[in-house]
Amino acid sequence: MTSGRLDDTIAAIASAPGIGAIGIVRVAGPRAFDVAAAVFRPAGGRAVHELPGGRVVFGRVVDPDGDAHDAEAAGAFVDEGLLLTFRAPRSYTGQDAVELQVHGGPAVLRAVLEACLRRGARAAEPGEFTLRAVASGRLDLAQAEAVLAMVEARSDAARRQASVGLSGALSASIDAAQRELTSAYAAVLASLDYPEEGVPEAQVEAPVADARARLERLLATATAGRFAVRGARMAIVGRPNAGKSSLLNALLGYERAIVADAPGTTRDYLEAPLELGRVSVTAVDTAGLRATADAVEAHGVARARELAAAADVVLALVDGTRPLEPEDRELVTALDRDRTIWVASKSDRPREWTAQDLGVAVRPVSSATGAGLDALRHELETRLLGDAAAEEAWVTSERQADALREAVEALARVPGASTDLQGLDLETALRALARITGRGDVAEETLAEVFARFCVGK
Ligand code: GDP
Repeated sequence: MTSGRLDDTIAAIASAPGIGAIGIVRVAGPRAFDVAAAVFRPAGGRAVHELPGGRVVFGRVVDPDGDAHDAEAAGAFVDEGLLLTFRAPRSYTGQDAVELQVHGGPAVLRAVLEACLRRGARAAEPGEFTLRAVASGRLDLAQAEAVLAMVEARSDAARRQASVGLSGALSASIDAAQRELTSAYAAVLASLDYPEEGVPEAQVEAPVADARARLERLLATATAGRFAVRGARMAIVGRPNAGKSSLLNALLGYERAIVADAPGTTRDYLEAPLELGRVSVTAVDTAGLRATADAVEAHGVARARELAAAADVVLALVDGTRPLEPEDRELVTALDRDRTIWVASKSDRPREWTAQDLGVAVRPVSSATGAGLDALRHELETRLLGDAAAEEAWVTSERQADALREAVEALARVPGASTDLQGLDLETALRALARITGRGDVAEETLAEVFARFCVGK
């Protein structure tokens, strides 16, 4: 794990491994411009040391320790490229930094990196650039996690939530709670010094209740945050020919997205990603697997229940154009009401039954005409968001949720407790919150936990 020291100069390949049009080697630290001056020759003959920040200069990358092909280069020619300059504190890490943009092949990038390493830079460890951004106060820890989430985002929902985190919205909410708790803590400490005065409720219990409510609201967004980052699982169940495949295709807007076969489970199934505003959904579909349909039909309700158990939301389809069958009613009893949305399919045709017959409210949808699809999407999103819909920033990592839970539990013990215990619980809560943003005392393990998942060069 990185130490968080800032006094040396680090370098790494920052672009993705493999072949690309352009590759980037990043250098940051007090000697970044020394390193750049050794390995880069600006075309106009300007001295690298004299370049201000915010410049882009064309030139040649050379390996000063390689054999010179021409005298002027003073070193072996490696590649042509661009040098981007950043002067402290206006850089990602807050330190002097440069980026070398060269052709994006693995051998070129390795050669450029090695030239930098021979001229005084040290190979950066995973996440070390971002760690420096945290150490220099450019980013807090929650924002550093958002950087990672941004890099890892595969869906639009995940990207959007990462950008909210990066903006500092989550941190602002935590900061507000921290301020309230700090003032309550001060009041408790004062009354420990002057016990005869007692602690006025307005100075402790009121801000604690306020902070606790705020943190509970945040904690309640953890599920939605998970759905944004990793996607919610949606099962589509119903009798054969109810219209499940057609509905999935209609929701996706294209024919059968086969993203991943998932063999090895009790039954093979198909997964398709579906973007639903602030959350993303992985639709799990068994309907298309005609070859195994016999087995599915034989245990329709059991199978539906099994699928539903592993899902965050269930779309249960009942064919609107056919009389109800006992199996449809069995499904109604088998499925969890809170997580199930009932759909009367094929609403472009006359309906053969009523919602009363089935015993649940149904949403008419036609995959053929698209009627009811938008409303269905909206209901899916609303169901998955829950109360999180009202909050801008969501908790998106388990680490953040754990710390919030600890703070909320400690605060729940404060009302009515002795002043001593109130002080201890407030300390616990404040320490837990400090772990989220990294402001205040943060243990080395917390940093290790956050940065362990980063890649080199970020
Ligand atoms: P699954 O077995 O539940 O996946 O059902 P399918 O999606 O394969 O559909 C079964 C049959 O119903 C097919 O012939 C579809 O063309 C038809 N169907 C599906 N959705 C609709 C709809 O919205 N309107 C009409 N009129 N027919 C539909």
